Amino acid sequence: MAFGLTPQQQEYAERVRRLAETELAGVEPAEGRVNRPLLKELGRLGLLRGLFGGAEDDPPRDAAATQLCLLREHLATVSTEAETALALQGLGSYPILQAGRPETVERWLPGVVTGDVVPAFALSEPGAGSDAAALALAARRSPRGWTLHGEKTWISNAPEADVYAVFARTSDRAGAKGVTAFAVPGDAAGLSGEPLDLLAPHAIGLLRFEGVEVSEADVLGEVDGGFAVAMRTLDLFRPSVGAFAVGMAQAALDAAVHWSVEREVRGAPLHAQQSVEHTLAEMATRVKAARLLVHAAASSYDEGAPAREVTEAAAMAKLFATETAQWVVDQAVQLHGARALQRGHLLEHLYREVRAPRIYEGASEVQRTIIGRSLVRRATEEHT
Ligand SMILES: Cc1cc2nc3c(=O)[nH]c(=O)nc-3n(C[C@H](O)[C@H](O)[C@H](O)COP(=O)(O)OP(=O)(O)OC[C@H]3O[C@@H](n4cnc5c(N)ncnc54)[C@H](O)[C@@H]3O)c2cc1C
Repeated sequence: MAFGLTPQQQEYAERVRRLAETELAGVEPAEGRVNRPLLKELGRLGLLRGLFGGAEDDPPRDAAATQLCLLREHLATVSTEAETALALQGLGSYPILQAGRPETVERWLPGVVTGDVVPAFALSEPGAGSDAAALALAARRSPRGWTLHGEKTWISNAPEADVYAVFARTSDRAGAKGVTAFAVPGDAAGLSGEPLDLLAPHAIGLLRFEGVEVSEADVLGEVDGGFAVAMRTLDLFRPSVGAFAVGMAQAALDAAVHWSVEREVRGAPLHAQQSVEHTLAEMATRVKAARLLVHAAASSYDEGAPAREVTEAAAMAKLFATETAQWVVDQAVQLHGARALQRGHLLEHLYREVRAPRIYEGASEVQRTIIGRSLVRRATEEHT
């Protein structure tokens, strides 16, 4: 697995791509809203169950990072909308699956897998993005359980989701140690929100919690232990954001290679220019390096490597793959000239899509901080 996929994994990746090209091709895009018909198709085809590992008939148990990366990369080469819709089913529901009580898991997960229930991961706030431990949305004890007051923003699938994994402050001045996770039904009284309009269409919005009541059974994991639930979710999903980026980069590279063969300049195909050939070589090399880092990070998660190694590998994979994808897509645009900027062109679409992954689930600077701290901690331990 260190340097390539097993035959079974290759077959799985090809199947995902084939299904995306055939079965999903007819689904209408939803342009920045939750696409429920698309989710139903992803459920019907068994792709959503792939988020949680296991065979097609198994109940969702745990997640498998490598399978998640294969799904995301190969869907992304065909449809970024399908890729993102699938990824958000996992991101929003994994806090429930990993930390919810059995009845809470049973209430929400079967619908997530069929595409009938839309979940969302609600961590970011207007005053707490990169510094998520500064979150302020408050949960106070109440006779029925807990009452939530505050705001979340940049929440994918909001305000249309059916259930939100909400990270709330339960102990003041305790930073990351005073956060609790809750499963909050989308139709809870006191919960409202509105969509936000981004550069690339993405179902996303803000949420207002005005006295939202939840019960004790809605707590995910330990009271004041919610930050770990969020971080474990991100450890799983960060390599797969890298896989999404690799899928987009591969699509841009494929388009650039084809175009360099098709297009003639000065009576010769574009690729006959050495500068073009070298650009294509550099693009392909960086895409392959990014994919290998993604697979290495996913295997370290699946093999249960020590938490510190998993976190460092995930940060490297996300950082390198998302930065690479931005560069590769930009080069592909350059090689195509004006036509790549025309609305509806694949590269015009990828140019807008490729930007956000360098910001969400930890901006590139945050990934560098994680990697740098890990290096220094290891060196310090070796010297003491
Ligand atoms: C498409 C999209 C989908 C999203 N979906 C979700 C979701 O489903 N759930 C959710 O909770 N959130 C979501 N987010 C929010 C996302 O996680 C935040 O945008 C991200 O954490 C950064 O926070 P911020 O935008 O507030 O930027 P800030 O924290 O204000 O940071 C701004 C910039 O400052 C720099 N910076 C920040 N910290 C450091 C540092 N330590 N060192 C050096 N430079 C630094 C970085 O360049 C960063 O981009 C989404 C965002 C986008 C764009």
